[in-house]
Amino acid sequence: MTGVIITIDGPAGTGKSSVAHLLAGRLGLDFLDTGAMYRAAALIAIEQGIDPGDGKALAAAVHAERLHFDWVADPPAILLGDRDVSLPVRGQDVAGTVSTVAAQPELRAVLVQQQRRIAEAHPRLVSEGRDQGSVVFPEASVRFFLDADADVRALRRVNQLVEAGLPADRDRIARDIRERDRIDSTRSDGPLVHPTGAIVIDTGQLTREQVVEELERLCRAHVPAARFDQ
Ligand code: C5P
Repeated sequence: MTGVIITIDGPAGTGKSSVAHLLAGRLGLDFLDTGAMYRAAALIAIEQGIDPGDGKALAAAVHAERLHFDWVADPPAILLGDRDVSLPVRGQDVAGTVSTVAAQPELRAVLVQQQRRIAEAHPRLVSEGRDQGSVVFPEASVRFFLDADADVRALRRVNQLVEAGLPADRDRIARDIRERDRIDSTRSDGPLVHPTGAIVIDTGQLTREQVVEELERLCRAHVPAARFDQ
């Protein structure tokens, strides 16, 4: 079995990105953080003064800025042209804008197409986001949905930002998370949903290590033919 795609979806602050990255490392798969792509589009909107509701302009700007990943870095770095924007896409300005940007169908069409192309070049992949198991890779070998209470998720985000040495306003982060949940779940295109047949895991009471262990165990059990790294 050559190709194997594992999808991990869920709301902001469930620890999806770090869990997906660790899982990919343990199984010997590549790791795609699709949230970073939407965040890079939001960064472009902020920097170029593009209306976050103007999907056509955003789609054109993403092409013009050559949004792509550097796969040599681990985790892969997100670039606009030659500029590594992995750090700026984590800022609070981007967090406040990204859901509006991500609700634009023209932009989603471009990024979904790019994600499928990435999977052709990296057919052994853990892909993480909101719509990976529902829209982008409905035929994935295993599809996970990670969930947790909104307050737990806000606290995790605060800790992440503090660890990264970035400013963290707890009230604003909790508000942003609830607002992002609302926009992400109610948009018409690629909304945040539990994909039918996905394995739902509540991460609220689990450490990151426990979540990774459980996902790894389930992947090995569900796709014995995948020849994952031991
Ligand atoms: O996962 P992360 O918090 O980095 O995602 C940032 C935002 O990007 C999400 O709140 C969501 O609006 C959007 N997103 C999306 N579809 C994806 C991944 C992220 O709409 N596949």
